[in-house]
Amino acid sequence: MKVRVDDSLCHGHQACAVAAPKVFGADDYGNAVVLIEGDLPADLEAGTRRAQGNCPEHAIIIDE
Ligand code: SF4
Repeated sequence: MKVRVDDSLCHGHQACAVAAPKVFGADDYGNAVVLIEGDLPADLEAGTRRAQGNCPEHAIIIDE
């Protein structure tokens, strides 16, 4: 499973970083960045799905 953020939708709430702090960080503008390149470790998948569900802008895209 891979995850990415659509920069054009992200508004920098950082709800994603609260739900999955090992997966999401912030750039200089406060918008989300994905901290892990490539496939996510299995133990981070649940938090990443929670982050996707909590993102108010629907900016988190999961590729199975
Ligand atoms: S919760 Fe969504 S909109 Fe907010 S910073 Fe994270 S990806 Fe961006």
